[in-house]
Amino acid sequence: MTATKTWNREEFWGLGYDFDPQWLLTPAQQKLQAALINVCASVLRPNAVESDRELIYPRKNFEALASLGLLSLFVPKEWGGLGENHTFAAMVVETIARYGCPSTAMCYTMHLGAVAAALFRCHDNPELQQLLKRLDQDVLIGTLSYSDPETGSHFWYPVSSKAERVASGWQVSKKASWTTSAGFADWYIVQTTSPEFDGNYADLSCFLIYSDEIKAEPHKWDALGLRGNQSGTLHVDGVTVPFERMVGPKGDGTASNDEIVDPFFLLCSSACWNGIAMGAIDIAKRHVTRKKHVDVGMRVADYPTIQDYFGEAIIDTNACRSFTFSMGKLMDELTDHCDWSIHKDLAALPRSAYLPWYWQIKFAAAKNVAHVCDKMLHACGGSGFKKDMEIERYLRDGKAGWVMGPTNEVLRQFVGKYALLGMESLDYWNQSVNERVLHNEVKKLDADGKRKLAESLLAQAAEEEAKPAKTLVSSSV
Ligand SMILES: Cc1cc2nc3c(=O)[nH]c(=O)nc-3n(C[C@H](O)[C@H](O)[C@H](O)COP(=O)(O)OP(=O)(O)OC[C@H]3O[C@@H](n4cnc5c(N)ncnc54)[C@H](O)[C@@H]3O)c2cc1C
Repeated sequence: MTATKTWNREEFWGLGYDFDPQWLLTPAQQKLQAALINVCASVLRPNAVESDRELIYPRKNFEALASLGLLSLFVPKEWGGLGENHTFAAMVVETIARYGCPSTAMCYTMHLGAVAAALFRCHDNPELQQLLKRLDQDVLIGTLSYSDPETGSHFWYPVSSKAERVASGWQVSKKASWTTSAGFADWYIVQTTSPEFDGNYADLSCFLIYSDEIKAEPHKWDALGLRGNQSGTLHVDGVTVPFERMVGPKGDGTASNDEIVDPFFLLCSSACWNGIAMGAIDIAKRHVTRKKHVDVGMRVADYPTIQDYFGEAIIDTNACRSFTFSMGKLMDELTDHCDWSIHKDLAALPRSAYLPWYWQIKFAAAKNVAHVCDKMLHACGGSGFKKDMEIERYLRDGKAGWVMGPTNEVLRQFVGKYALLGMESLDYWNQSVNERVLHNEVKKLDADGKRKLAESLLAQAAEEEAKPAKTLVSSSV
């Protein structure tokens, strides 16, 4: 707790460790965190400016992270990784976003999600094991490609994708509207509907795809913030991959989403938003403690209004950080500190029982970051509006939090709907009929309207019966 935070060998100009929950980290983790802050100062932060201005993918930052072993943060020690846990992963993402480069923090979040998805189902898969052993040595960046152009932020609903069994493996077709690191990553975990898809969109499968098997359009990427993130389109155009490139068994997509993709993405992306909020507070502290108003003989930091801004921003952000880290701790407890061997049992899905909690941490962190960056810009006055101070970049980067799927509108409704109507009411794959709505609408029709509707429904039913068997929807409210 008493250690001094350094920045290029001098005392750090932002908030010290006394405002960080250092008690959550072991001494070894604290040491690695300090080393990472130094790498942020010397490498990641200067590159962040370049990435933002020139839309440059932060591969150089990944090389620096690999030099600390961080690409294989979750990989077991016996495979050359750090064998680290969820709490530390959240701290690493937060640290990269706060002191280094938010775009890199988001690309790294997606990398960790892809690594976790691979570790989850690597036990009888030599292809995945080989890949996981080479992450740092060969700087092999991974990412998750889920969002579909036809279904927006409902990333669990890949209508423009499919996979088919052919003689030599799986023929995979995937269209993604957004993929962080698209065209720059070395490997991708993509989700499609399962081979032998029968119309049930809950039947999803995951595949490992390498960079030479995708088509990306990075030249089309230009965005408000996280500009180094390069979250562009991705197309896997009917590529045939060997059988071992299916990640997990056929139809494992829902389990993979609930146990891995959602928990890891929501934990690490929340840490990213919290890191951006802390980064903005640090930058603003540097400014307000240095800028003087000669007429009144005071620094900007001496005004009580400014002190109030900081007090509230720190309290709100530390509430979000504590919430996020508490979910990291929970995931550590559920999995004996991220022991991947528990997943040799395919039915072991301990993280997934707490999905509504992961939704809540992301909502809170993404809401907070926009507010805090805005207030820190206000605290810095017109100076904060200029690019050289970097607050405006943090503000733009933080804006991605609310809109990234699951969006905050969706999360807020998931939590409220689940609380009021139960989990099954969420109906991810549009399968349950809402009979209240149905009956209410039918009630509005006169006899003729009802007859016409009945005739049209009978014709549809006859058409469906003539087609091959398809999964029937359940009828519930
Ligand atoms: C920087 C960045 C990086 C990204 N990286 C990745 C990535 O690596 N991989 C990946 O798969 N995807 C990624 N995405 C995509 C992201 O997850 C979302 O899919 C995307 O932001 C959705 O944008 P959209 O325009 O399709 O929004 P839409 O889904 O069209 O949303 C438009 C509006 O409708 C609201 N809305 C949508 N559905 C509902 C609903 N059911 N109820 C109420 N309101 C609703 C939304 O909240 C929003 O306000 C990234 C996005 C960003 C911004």
